Amino acid sequence: MGEFYGVEAPQEVDVQPPEVVSTKGCGSRLPSRVEKALKLKSKPLRQCKKCQEWGHHDSRNCDKFKEKEKLLSRRNSDV
Ligand SMILES: [Zn+2]
Repeated sequence: MGEFYGVEAPQEVDVQPPEVVSTKGCGSRLPSRVEKALKLKSKPLRQCKKCQEWGHHDSRNCDKFKEKEKLLSRRNSDV
């Protein structure tokens, strides 16, 4: 019986790690942050109708328009 155990033990140690570990170190895939930046770069520019600027936003999420709105609402609350 003792021999039986001697054979089984090393087999358990020999188990290979799952492939997930090896693919994790693969460097072909870009980090999401870099991918995002690249996408933004390759995106065609569009003209914002609010500030007439060419960029990656439109009139709905225009920064300048938002600032204006904030000022207006602040003035409103003041009065
Ligand atoms: Zn704008």
